[in-house]
Amino acid sequence: MTSRFPALSMNTVATRVHAVRMGRRLRLLSCLGALLVPVACAAPSHTVPVPAPTARTTPAARTPALPLALRWMRRSAEYRALTRQTYAVAAARLDDTVPTLTGVAWGVILDADETLLDNSEYQRRRAVLDSAYTEASWAEWVKEVAAPAVPGAVAFTRRVRRLGGRVIVVTNRADALCGPTRANLRRVGVPADLVLCQPPGQPDKNPRFRAVERGTASTDLPALRIVEWIGDNIQDFPGLTQAVRHDPSAFRAFGRTFFVLPNPVYGSWQGNAGP
Ligand SMILES: [Mg+2]
Repeated sequence: MTSRFPALSMNTVATRVHAVRMGRRLRLLSCLGALLVPVACAAPSHTVPVPAPTARTTPAARTPALPLALRWMRRSAEYRALTRQTYAVAAARLDDTVPTLTGVAWGVILDADETLLDNSEYQRRRAVLDSAYTEASWAEWVKEVAAPAVPGAVAFTRRVRRLGGRVIVVTNRADALCGPTRANLRRVGVPADLVLCQPPGQPDKNPRFRAVERGTASTDLPALRIVEWIGDNIQDFPGLTQAVRHDPSAFRAFGRTFFVLPNPVYGSWQGNAGP
């Protein structure tokens, strides 16, 4: 039988088979290239493509900006410098005071929120929702036991303990939230000897301060000479309220036995009238 195709040597056949295979590979690469080239042209290596707005990205664009004061607390170097500075000065003062306390049971009293525990994440969540504080959302946050320590707080409280003092926390967190508050302090490494939360309807801390000094706040502690108070609210200090703000003599203890931390986000100052 005569073939319709010319006779080919084995070498010629092998060469043509190879050529066909190469042609298929080149066509495949060419197709891939056609797919890739427009992308490469549209997105040079030194630029980042900006996705078109979609249903997923639109809500983020509507997220309210964080209030300036909250941004400062969460993002600034200055806030961290101030909290560390306050605790460093308080620690240095202890070095002067403690040698005079031989044989005396002593301690320091600290507030919790924005003094030992940083709740700016709670504030951020409320701001993102364009909503303010609510009792329910606050309770949920406290029960998360997720607040980090204010910078400088852990080292200071550990130093108090190393020097033989007691760490007393007097906070206006509700009594019902005292369990998770103690847990949060433990979690961040604050060695609190006693945590006194707010009895129902009694936000004034002065009776609790006096109970600690008299030794009636806990059966586990003797009467304590309180050598320092630390807080972010003027009401964290014995006898002081916003009413003293125009009286320079009321501030003499600050830097000596009273040490205040910055909190421009909330506080008893919010009720003050003025220009
Ligand atoms: Mg506070």
